[in-house]
Amino acid sequence: DERLIAPASLPEDRQDPALRPERLADFVGQRQVLGNLAVFIAAARARGDALDHVLLHGPPGLGKTTLAQIVAKEMGVGFRATSGPVIARAGDLAAILTNLNEFDVLFIDEIHRLNPAVEEILYPAMEDFQLDLVIGEGPSARSVRIDLPRFTLVAATTRAGLVTRPLRERFGIPLRLNYYEIDELASIVRRGARLLAAPLTEDGAHEIARRSRGTPRVAGRLLRRVRDFAAVADAAQIDAGVADRALTRLEVDPQGLDAMDRRYLGCIARHYGGGPVGVETLAAALSESRDAIEDVIEPFLIQQGLLARTPRGRVLTRGGWQHLGLMPPPPKDG
Ligand code: ADP
Repeated sequence: DERLIAPASLPEDRQDPALRPERLADFVGQRQVLGNLAVFIAAARARGDALDHVLLHGPPGLGKTTLAQIVAKEMGVGFRATSGPVIARAGDLAAILTNLNEFDVLFIDEIHRLNPAVEEILYPAMEDFQLDLVIGEGPSARSVRIDLPRFTLVAATTRAGLVTRPLRERFGIPLRLNYYEIDELASIVRRGARLLAAPLTEDGAHEIARRSRGTPRVAGRLLRRVRDFAAVADAAQIDAGVADRALTRLEVDPQGLDAMDRRYLGCIARHYGGGPVGVETLAAALSESRDAIEDVIEPFLIQQGLLARTPRGRVLTRGGWQHLGLMPPPPKDG
């Protein structure tokens, strides 16, 4: 079953589009990223050219897809979205590229999961707006070159380390998104409440923000759950008390960790003496995929100072022990 605060998309997030900011001015936080983007967009528009290719990197739910859509809107061009694993063959990518209009934004999510054969034909497409395709097989095979419209590739990845170097080097604008500050999340929650016409107080917004794992997608999801809880409880207002009761019932703790986060930390503490322990061992012990652990669970725990990654494996920090309400073992002699 899915985690309530999993930053990855859940079916219920279909409501998200209503909350999605549509212009740079509505996008909260990530000030440096936004500042850079605004300059590049203005420059491209002034030149009358397509924006350079953009690589967005950061944990799920931080606004990569949203920013890609905003780029298209601000450039006044069309938007096409797909994802790395969906483009199985070179022909699939060729079909997408040849259907683009001049200056369009093509968004490819999970670019690190692109098939190497597809990646190969993306290089000349990004660099020279040309497609080199081999048609036919064996002795009758021939290669054809097709001119493409100038377009902007906006790619997103949760794992910059898995993007090959030749691909990474073809992006003129690499941007890294970070977890949001609580005040930024509070303003995202307030905006969401306004759009949902939910009677949220200032301290209610703050309570939800504090427990959103630094992630706007989680903030939106918690807001909807708290609103439902308040409706059932017949609460006239959603204040900090109502939010706290709802979130506690949903097992989201005061720091925003959910049951899975605590299970992960607890496993290292109780079974491996606080570490170091390898990620494969933890994946097996928790029956979780290594990807989910590395993309979703660990980045936030590390950012919160509860966990450290060392060359020998994962280690609980003092804060991690404290969060569990446990005492770290005394240091070993020698
Ligand atoms: P990603 O592509 O990084 O997984 P999304 O762009 O799908 O994340 O964002 C997830 C949700 O969070 C979206 O529905 C969007 O409404 C909301 N969101 C993301 N970033 C912001 C932001 N800076 N301000 C307001 N809402 C945001």
